[in-house]
Amino acid sequence: MHTQLIIIGSGPAGLTAAIYAARGGLVPLIISGNEPGGQLILTTDVQNFPGFPDAIKGPALMENMRKQAEQFGTKFIDNVVASVDFSTRPFKVTVGIDTDQTQYTAEAVIIATGSSAVWLGLESETRLRGRGVSACATCDGFFFKGKDVIVVGGGEVAIEEAIFLAKLVKSVKVIHRSHELRAARIMQQKAFNNRKISFFWNSVVEEILGDKKVEGVRIKNVENTAEKSKIKCDGVFIAIGHKPNTQIFRNQIELDKGYIKKYEGSRTSVEGVFVAGDSYDYVYRQAVTAAGSGCKAAIDVIRYLEATERKEV
Ligand code: NDP
Repeated sequence: MHTQLIIIGSGPAGLTAAIYAARGGLVPLIISGNEPGGQLILTTDVQNFPGFPDAIKGPALMENMRKQAEQFGTKFIDNVVASVDFSTRPFKVTVGIDTDQTQYTAEAVIIATGSSAVWLGLESETRLRGRGVSACATCDGFFFKGKDVIVVGGGEVAIEEAIFLAKLVKSVKVIHRSHELRAARIMQQKAFNNRKISFFWNSVVEEILGDKKVEGVRIKNVENTAEKSKIKCDGVFIAIGHKPNTQIFRNQIELDKGYIKKYEGSRTSVEGVFVAGDSYDYVYRQAVTAAGSGCKAAIDVIRYLEATERKEV
């Protein structure tokens, strides 16, 4: 099947791109991916998406966006992309697994595959996600106003999150598996000087405690594994890195530390392929910024297709 625009990914970036592209006269085809709706499907209350003063549940927000995209004519394929071929236009996108695969072609592609937080991999962490366990302080810090929280990690993001949280909460304890931070010196100093922030070095979280909500963590010293302790807390922020979902684009497009390299507007290194959301943006990572970049990508695609049609006439 041939179409003008294929959007890969169905989080806020992909769905907003579809709404704008469809209202701009295209019939976009979304390949919704492994996790239709993206990271918001895993969240509970979203209080910071403009337009919802009483908050909205993440899954409801994504369902609304999908309906809105469908209403204007977007077509959906609820499947995963196995591979892409961006070497010539029309671009080829192969969808499905193993022997059950279909190839689609398009004049333009928007990559909106997002990124995923890296988790510790504990059963208690999965069970308590959205009940005190989070991977985004900007999104969920407000829920812990005046409470005690833990941040796991020692990189730039962990320290940024600790400093951000310290403005809202009573105390922040940073649990870090080694004896020194990776974050920039200036950020380290800021954190060390903050009276609300304290550090547990050479320590890993073994278990997040609590039945229905987070009540604390059990940590283990990595140098002396017999040394274990319990820390009471109301929230646990995991900040041990993010992984962009860009594996299928390797060797097809320029990447930068695994993220899609973005040029002017939403352009990429391949003319006709555009990018939106967390697959390039490792800085902001918000639903509203992803949606904004989806809008920009759709406008760029419409202009690009108009310009190429003019050239071909
Ligand atoms: P980092 O990889 O810098 O740090 C991860 C931290 O988590 C490390 O301190 C690491 O410990 C710790 N950690 C990792 N795995 C575990 C685990 N299983 N258990 C316990 N601790 C663990 O990631 P960040 O997200 O903090 O920062 C990424 C930075 O890179 C950001 O500043 C981002 O903006 C930037 N970035 C820049 C890009 C670019 O310039 N193009 C692209 C992407 C990101 P340890 O120190 O012991 O290894």
